[in-house]
Amino acid sequence: MPFGLYLHFPFCRNRCSYCDFYKELFDAGLEAQFYDALRTETELCAEAHAGHDREISTIFIGGGTPSLTNLSLLADWLTLVRTLFTVPAGIEFSIETNPESVTLENLTAFKQMGVNRPLFGIQSFNLALLKLLDRRHNPDDSYRAIYNANVLGFDNFGVDMIFGLPGQSMKMLSRDIDEFVDLNPPHISFYQLTVEHGTPLARKVETGKLVMPNQESSMAMYRGGIERFTEAAYHRYEVSSLARPGFECRHNLGYWEGREYLGLGPSAHSFMQGKRFANLSSVRDYLASLKSGVRPIVYDESGIEDRMVEAIMLGLRMARGIDRHQFAARFGRSLESRFDPHNYDLLRNSGHIVDEDGVVRLSDEGILLADEITRRLLK
Ligand code: SF4
Repeated sequence: MPFGLYLHFPFCRNRCSYCDFYKELFDAGLEAQFYDALRTETELCAEAHAGHDREISTIFIGGGTPSLTNLSLLADWLTLVRTLFTVPAGIEFSIETNPESVTLENLTAFKQMGVNRPLFGIQSFNLALLKLLDRRHNPDDSYRAIYNANVLGFDNFGVDMIFGLPGQSMKMLSRDIDEFVDLNPPHISFYQLTVEHGTPLARKVETGKLVMPNQESSMAMYRGGIERFTEAAYHRYEVSSLARPGFECRHNLGYWEGREYLGLGPSAHSFMQGKRFANLSSVRDYLASLKSGVRPIVYDESGIEDRMVEAIMLGLRMARGIDRHQFAARFGRSLESRFDPHNYDLLRNSGHIVDEDGVVRLSDEGILLADEITRRLLK
C-alpha cells in the first residue's frame, strides 16, 4: 500500500510561549548538517523498504518552521526522494509556513518542488494576542502570505487559528473569525490553546500573571466558532479541522484511518510494515546516529491493546466516527470489548454518543468533550 511521507524540519527562529514541540533555534550550519543526515536517513529507509511498495501517497513537511529552509537543500532532498521512491504527480504535498518567513520567492520555489498545499500558521489577527504567544509575525504578514498564495494560484491551502487565549473575549474571537472567513481558505485548523508543562506560558499561568479562560468560556468559544464556520460553508470533519468539501487533509486522514506513514527527521514517528517507531528527538543525537550509518529509531513495543485505544481515540475525534466492521476486521476484536459498558450506556442515553448504522460517533455536543468522553468510555 502507498504510504504517507512526513518530514520534521526541526528549526525555528524563536520559541513561542506555548509551544512544546521539539525544535532548535535556526542555524544555517546546523541545517546543512541536518540535510546531510536526512539524505542518509532517506537512503537507509529506502534500503529497509526494499521489496515493499515504494509509492508515496502524500507528503507533509512540518516543524518547526519549514519556511526557514534553505531552498536548494530541500530541493536536493526531494530529488533524492523521487529517485528512491515513487512519487505520483499531483499527490497532496503540504508544507507548514509561518507568515513572517514565507515570501513570494520561497512560495514560488515550493510550488516548483511540487507543493500544492501550503499551510499558514496565522493563529490570530489580533496583534496583542500574537505578542502574548510570542509569535514573530503581525497581521500584515498574514495578509501578504495569503495574497501571495492566491497570486501563485494555489487553490488548496490551509490556515491555523487558535482560540481560548488569556484575555480573549467572544467579541475578539468573532472579529478574528470574520478575518479568517474573508480570506476564504479551503482548510482551517481551529484549535484550543493548551498550557503545556514547562513552557513560558505555563510559568505565567502558574504565577498568576496570565489567567486562562475557564472551561465554560472555552467551550462557548469552540461552539461559537464552529457555528460561524459552518454558516460560512465549512464542515468539521475532525474535532479541530474544518474544510470546504473535498479539501480535507488527506495526509492527516491517513493517520486517523490507521494507514502507513514514514516519518523522517528528529522526533518524527512512523508506522511501516506493521511496526511503529519514533526517531530520536534531539537534533544532535539524530546527527550522531546517522553519521555512524545507523537509523535513529526507537521501536514502540506497544501491543494490540494500545493500538485499539489509539484507534478509538482518533476515531472519536473524526466526525464520521468508528465503523464497527472495519474496527473488528483490523483488530480481530469488537469495539465493545474496549468500552466500559456502564459508561457507554450513560453516554449514549445522555446523547453524547450516537450509535447507528454500524458506526459509533460523538454527537455535536459530545465532540466538544471528545477527550473527556473517550477517557470515560475506555476501560
Ligand atoms: S513557530 Fe511553531 S514550532 Fe516554532 S516555536 Fe512557534 S509554535 Fe513552536
